[in-house]
Amino acid sequence: MNFEEIKKLDSQYGAETFSRFPVALAGGQGATLVDTEGKRYIDFGAGIAVNIFGVNDEEWKSAVIDQLGKIQHTSNLYYVEPQARLMELLCKRTGAKRVFFGNSGAEANECAFKAARKYSYDKYGAGRSKIISLKNSFHGRTLFTLTATGQDVFHRYFHPFVGDVVSVDANIESVRKEAKGACAVVIEPVQGESGVTALNAEFVKALEKFCKEQDVLLIVDEVQTGNGRTGKFHAYEHFGISPDLVTTAKGIAGGLPLGACLFFEKTEHVFSAGDHGSTFGGNPVCCAGAVNVISRLTDEFLLEVQGKSDYMRAKLRTIDGVKAVTGMGLMIGLETEKPAKEVANECLKRGLLVLTAHTRVRLLPPLNITKNEIDEGLSVLKEVLK
Ligand SMILES: *Cc1c(COP(=O)(O)O)cnc(C)c1O
Repeated sequence: MNFEEIKKLDSQYGAETFSRFPVALAGGQGATLVDTEGKRYIDFGAGIAVNIFGVNDEEWKSAVIDQLGKIQHTSNLYYVEPQARLMELLCKRTGAKRVFFGNSGAEANECAFKAARKYSYDKYGAGRSKIISLKNSFHGRTLFTLTATGQDVFHRYFHPFVGDVVSVDANIESVRKEAKGACAVVIEPVQGESGVTALNAEFVKALEKFCKEQDVLLIVDEVQTGNGRTGKFHAYEHFGISPDLVTTAKGIAGGLPLGACLFFEKTEHVFSAGDHGSTFGGNPVCCAGAVNVISRLTDEFLLEVQGKSDYMRAKLRTIDGVKAVTGMGLMIGLETEKPAKEVANECLKRGLLVLTAHTRVRLLPPLNITKNEIDEGLSVLKEVLK
């Protein structure tokens, strides 16, 4: 099918939830993609931080295909090897004690929120169920995670929302005001969807202290920032904090749907059989992809990510029309003189895929993007922004 044929079917039959860029992607190699009309693009988006090793990565593909040839799904009624191996890898890498697998970021957060409420209920009884999130956060599209998403644009139409969830300004006084009845605070180390803004380090340290003192769980949403994106395995490592629950998804399986909630010391035994579940969660094909991804995110590889980030950021700062460069690692926000949407559309026409986040241009390239691909993408941005 060509682009017009695909677009026609989508317009006619798709739920009208997405405003898509006018392109149908068909394939590619690494961070270089090709559309149905044979046009080439440099990919600075990675399918929203998902395709960690770009597309068509040989090693990842063979891990996935190998599992696909054995068994594609088992349900969680049975044990299956790639899931067990991934649990071990994630725990050894992060110091977490246990892992629960879902299929998405929203489900990972849903699991963490439920775990936090149960932790508090088991220990203190009812009346301590409040989840505190931050203004300008994004935690997902299920009703619970949407309630915790601190952006009013997402809070239309769907009332009533989940009770006892509040969003506060990102300062410790505002969190303290909501301390009564709270069981958890959830943060994104770098707020992604609202514009690629890193949290203030002093605030994050103060928050960790507050949480420890009050026995309020600290949940870190690493759905976008995790899996090497910021140059550390998880972005909270930049802040030197120890969370109680960590959620991850997007990049974890290199392009397959998988989410995970990591339980640290305090929350290790919060769930028992029947408390939570998922039919697809921890699917063996997705887990095989994730085992490949996680085992390749070595310290050496993460240093390369940091190097690429430094290189891109230094170049971006010299580009006319760039007012500020935000974020961490290869999670880059650009405040531009031209409106972000216009920049994204212009880049697309010239063969570069970039994303937007609120008023900023957002760059989330595959972590294995080559220097040539970076240079090619940056030269398009330079043209567009001037
Ligand atoms: C994308 C995202 C989510 C939601 O993930 P889905 O897989 O779309 O459900 C949650 N939290 C953060 C920080 C995200 O960036």
